[in-house]
Amino acid sequence: MEPVTAFVTNAPRGGVNKVRTEIEDDPGDLILKPVFTGICGTDRSIIAGSLSFPFNPPGSDYLVLGHEAICRVYDSQNSRYRVGDLVIPMVRRKGKCINCRMGRQDNCSDGDKREAGVTGKHGFMRELFPESSEYVVRVPDLGLEKVGVLTEPLKNVMKAFEVFDRISQRSYYPSDDYSMNGKNAWVIGTGSEGFLYSMMARERGFETYITNRHPIDENRLEILEKFGVNFMDYSKSPLESADNIDLLIDTSGDPSTVLRFASRLRHNGVLILFGTNEKAQSAPMSGSFIDHVVEKNISIVGSVDGAKMHYEQAISQLMKWHHSNGNSIESLITNIKTPENDNLFERRDVNNIKTVISWQ
Ligand SMILES: [Zn+2]
Repeated sequence: MEPVTAFVTNAPRGGVNKVRTEIEDDPGDLILKPVFTGICGTDRSIIAGSLSFPFNPPGSDYLVLGHEAICRVYDSQNSRYRVGDLVIPMVRRKGKCINCRMGRQDNCSDGDKREAGVTGKHGFMRELFPESSEYVVRVPDLGLEKVGVLTEPLKNVMKAFEVFDRISQRSYYPSDDYSMNGKNAWVIGTGSEGFLYSMMARERGFETYITNRHPIDENRLEILEKFGVNFMDYSKSPLESADNIDLLIDTSGDPSTVLRFASRLRHNGVLILFGTNEKAQSAPMSGSFIDHVVEKNISIVGSVDGAKMHYEQAISQLMKWHHSNGNSIESLITNIKTPENDNLFERRDVNNIKTVISWQ
C-alpha cells in the first residue's frame, strides 16, 4: 500500500504524531477512505497515556488512532460493494472464543478480541486503509455522511438497550398501559455518549433526565429540549428531585455519583454501567445500599461495545432523527477540524460535544 497520512500513538505510553508512511495492516477486500473520524475521550486518554489496556499491533512500534469513522469505499474486490459506497467500519475484531465466532465479539468471553485504534489493531485516523467486508456496515447514502460518524458511539447505546430489554423481563416492568410512559430514566454525564443515551431513553418512552455536576451552555440545553430530555445540575439541585428512578445509566465511571443515584432506584430498577474511569476516587458501599438492591430486586449490569446488528440499529435511528428533528442531531457535532489543524486532540472545552476530523 502507498504511503498515507495518519495519526499514530505508541500504546500504552501515549503521545500523538502525524506521520506519512506505509502502514502494514490486515488484508481486506475493500480499501476505505474516511469521510469523518470522531475524536472521543478514549482517544484523548490513549494519547495522555493514562490507560493501561491499549497496545500496538504485533510487530508494530506504533498504533494508528481512531475507532469512530464513516468512510467511502475507495477500491473494492467484492461485488457487493462499489466504489463510493458509504460504510461504517466496526471496532472489534473476532478472537477465537465462542461469542467472537458467533459475531458477538462485543461479548467476547476470554478478552482475546482486538479493537481498532485501541488494542492491537490499527485504527481509522488515516487517509486510506484496507478493510474486510466482514467488518463493515452499509449506510444508505441519504444525507447521513456527517451524522453517520455518530454510529459508533450510538451502537454502544443500542447494545445497552438490548441488555436492558433482557434484564427488565425478570419482572413486569412497563407502566400499566404497557408502555414506558411514566417511567423515569436518569443518565449521568453530559458528554456525547450521555447525550445519545438520554435521547434513546426518551425515544423508548421514558421521562428522561440527564445530569452532571456543572451547568451546561445554551446550545446543549437547546439540543436536549428538542429531544425532550430534562437537564439537572446535581451540584445545585437537591437529589430529592431524582426520586423514583426506574432506569439509571452511568457514563461517568465515578463510584460516588453512581452510588448516590443508584440508592434512588425503584423496585425492579435497572442500573447500566457504561462509563469507565480507572483513576476515579473509590466510594464506600454501605450495608443499607446492598439491602436496597436486594430487597428491591435491582439489577446492576455492565455493557460494552455492540454487535453488527447494533450498528445497523444505530444507522436506522440516526436516519430517523436526521429526518424528524431537523439539524439538531447534526448539532451534536460541535467541532469539525482537518488533519492540517494544530492541537486536534487538545482537551475539549466543556461546551464541546463531539469533535470530528474531516478527511475530504
Ligand atoms: Zn472472544
